[in-house]
Amino acid sequence: MDLYEHQARELFKGYGIAVPDAAVVDHPREARHAAELLGGRVVVKAQVKTGGRGKAGGVKLAADPAAAEITARQILGMDIKGHTVHRVMLAQPVDIQDEFYVSYVLDRAAGTFLAIASAEGGMDIEEVAATRPEAVARIPVDPAEGVTETKAAEIAAAAGLPPEAADALRRLWQVLVREDALLVEVNPLVRTVQGTILALDGKVTIDDNAVFRQARWGETPDAPSTEGDPLEVAARARGLNYVKLDGEVGIIGNGAGLVMSTLDVVAGRGARPANFLDIGGGASAQVMADGLDVILSDPDVRAVLVNVFGGITACDAVAEGIVQALASVHLTKPLVVRLDGNNAARGRAILDARAHPLVEQVTTMDGAAARAAQLATR
Ligand code: GDP
Ligand code: MN
Repeated sequence: MDLYEHQARELFKGYGIAVPDAAVVDHPREARHAAELLGGRVVVKAQVKTGGRGKAGGVKLAADPAAAEITARQILGMDIKGHTVHRVMLAQPVDIQDEFYVSYVLDRAAGTFLAIASAEGGMDIEEVAATRPEAVARIPVDPAEGVTETKAAEIAAAAGLPPEAADALRRLWQVLVREDALLVEVNPLVRTVQGTILALDGKVTIDDNAVFRQARWGETPDAPSTEGDPLEVAARARGLNYVKLDGEVGIIGNGAGLVMSTLDVVAGRGARPANFLDIGGGASAQVMADGLDVILSDPDVRAVLVNVFGGITACDAVAEGIVQALASVHLTKPLVVRLDGNNAARGRAILDARAHPLVEQVTTMDGAAARAAQLATR
């Protein structure tokens, strides 16, 4: 889960990393008021969970409270890379001397963390990294040792940052560890004309596996869960794991492993998956009915393969779900069903009794995949 800049800013503050004074508003009139409280001149910043706001026109300086209101009106509602701006942050402007880039990121391949830092931070960091990688220092951080004062000084020196930046580097590591973050990034970390080190932007990604103990962030208006393919959003709203692909066979299975191997077997039979939906372990009839509804709503689907190995999930419940779905959706595409495992015989009997002309049962996974591929590509 990514945090908004204003949330990252609050975190940084709590760890003793200096940030400009700021306020978050969702209405232009409140922007005027907040700007007055902040001293008049403010930077107005779109709050969306994506980078590149500056280049997209989502970060603008306003000279006084009236200008802040006008600027907020322009930025609120703006679309930045598919993210609608519902809120803006107003921050006290800073006289920037230097802009640095600093981040800690989990390096899965190396099995460790990496500090990435550059004295050439700011909006063009991607270009710097691409054209002059030597300007970006990449230093492994042993998670057991962490970023001590010595380590922070080492990172700062390697990146060409001033020694005063080391303190922020050390504190940023504390953020990563204590907040269960997979990424913390500050771009830019600035040295002001007055010589102060300040975090002017912040990106923090909390490990989703730790969200249960980092629950205070909650869900906010443009959280990613309401974005993406409309069917993915609809499926998520029903608690289903649906992923859109670009082939022609709709796939429903229970459990990530079974679903992944079903994709492979279908591909092995010369067809391409149009999507897949994991109804999970312990799936009920209702979940199956909802799942079929989602899969059949995808116009690319030419045949559906339901592949269920009953463990906790009982095949008769899955079959009931299919029967239930057949009552509410008008089936126009062939459905190939393979039920095995827990209560498979009962499940098969239920589908046999329903005897829908477009529903076929095949007892093996390979056979079912072959049949679905054949129906989808004929
Ligand atoms: P991003 O484009 O989404 O990464 O948004 P940032 O928060 O990094 O802002 C983009 C750029 O705006 C920064 O790199 C700064 O150059 C500039 N900026 C942001 N806040 C201030 C500020 O308070 N004063 C000045 N002069 N520039 C700022
Ligand atoms: Mn930035």
